[in-house]
Amino acid sequence: MKILDNIDLDIPLDIGRDFLEKVMGSEINAPLERLLKEKTSMCVENIAPKAIYDRFEIDKVDGDRVYFKSGNIFNGPHISKILTGSKTAIPYIFTLGGQVDRIINEESRSGDTLATIVMDAITTSLLDTLGDFVGDRIKREGIEQQNWGATCAYSPGQYKWTIEEQKKIFKMLDGQKIGVELNDSYLMLPFKSLSGVYGFGPEDRIDKTRVACDLCPRENCIGRR
Ligand code: SF4
Repeated sequence: MKILDNIDLDIPLDIGRDFLEKVMGSEINAPLERLLKEKTSMCVENIAPKAIYDRFEIDKVDGDRVYFKSGNIFNGPHISKILTGSKTAIPYIFTLGGQVDRIINEESRSGDTLATIVMDAITTSLLDTLGDFVGDRIKREGIEQQNWGATCAYSPGQYKWTIEEQKKIFKMLDGQKIGVELNDSYLMLPFKSLSGVYGFGPEDRIDKTRVACDLCPRENCIGRR
């Protein structure tokens, strides 16, 4: 099991802008520009990026089920599709930490809805940036042989892999080691956290789905990649 602590993220100067423009449905005006600038430094100062992941050997894929040699089992038509042809899988959990959740909640309680929307856009984009960092690290380690490749990442809660399957990932990885827990609704706390899995195996055998969005029917989703 690997733990990445105190991750030093390379944060783009315009973090949050793209997502905010999608949320607002237009280019942002001068007052929003100022708010974005002010809240970006506030959010960046309050993140504590961490990640945990581990390597598991796949025993077999049978129908909608993925069986691991460790005894763990994933269940869902899309996760079994994504891991068909893979020899190993690396589940992961990463988080921006609890402090950023707290400042967003404080902003929301203060009644400043616009500032809350801006901070949510910034931290959603920061979570994407962290996801790219962790993904690059996992892929470098997961491609164990020259002719191997990596699948796209897939997460519980994405299309046709139910959110209840979060508990399977939290059985394989101790999320508490990076301060992440699951509540009774299978949501992660801190809220700005994500989990998922990558598959690895011979390039000519692994699944070729480019990104999870390609399997998702939500055409007008603002997060679509
Ligand atoms: S389209 Fe949206 S809901 Fe669907 S997988 Fe992509 S980001 Fe998630």
